[in-house]
Amino acid sequence: MIARYTLVFIVALFFTEAPAQDRSAAEEYRIQLEQRKRADLLRVMDSAVTMMDEGRYEVADQKLIYVLNNIKSIPSDLTFYFGKNSFYLNKFKQSIDWLNKYIQLKGSTGQFYAEAVGLLKQAETEIVKEQSRNTAKVKEVLSSEYEIDCGPAGKVTCPVCKGTTVLIKKGAFENQYKTCPYCDKHGFLTCAEYNLLIKGQLEPK
Ligand SMILES: [Zn+2]
Repeated sequence: MIARYTLVFIVALFFTEAPAQDRSAAEEYRIQLEQRKRADLLRVMDSAVTMMDEGRYEVADQKLIYVLNNIKSIPSDLTFYFGKNSFYLNKFKQSIDWLNKYIQLKGSTGQFYAEAVGLLKQAETEIVKEQSRNTAKVKEVLSSEYEIDCGPAGKVTCPVCKGTTVLIKKGAFENQYKTCPYCDKHGFLTCAEYNLLIKGQLEPK
């Protein structure tokens, strides 16, 4: 008799526990799929970089846009590669936009910092030339349309005050100083705040 109750109890336990286990297994599977998808996309990005290095900018562009449109959150290296490739496609505004994003994300210690700054200068010169020529504009892909991954630190130096936490308004006689309304007291934005800022949606505190 006791054995039978124990059995019933075990069976009951099994049935009540099972859905929760199924759920976490399903969740784990979903995460695995997500990671695999990201790894696949990063491989596409690497092959795009190879093509860019070979001077095949149009194909590289197609691949990079595919990654941009399918990856959940954009790694900082991708902002650099897309900015660089855009430069070689003569999409200078788009190039400046993404290269600036890379510099904001990685600062002067970023692996591609020097190259990004160099390309940025050239792109700015080209923009000025373009404006004087008044050439027809092509549709550009801008970073504010995407969710950017700020890396493991999860924070970015505030681009508004450049991390100083102070905004200076130049006056005729004296300058006015004001605490930056966007970042924390150390001059940082969280990644969520940064993404809102580049979309023009971050409210000042
Ligand atoms: Zn700030």
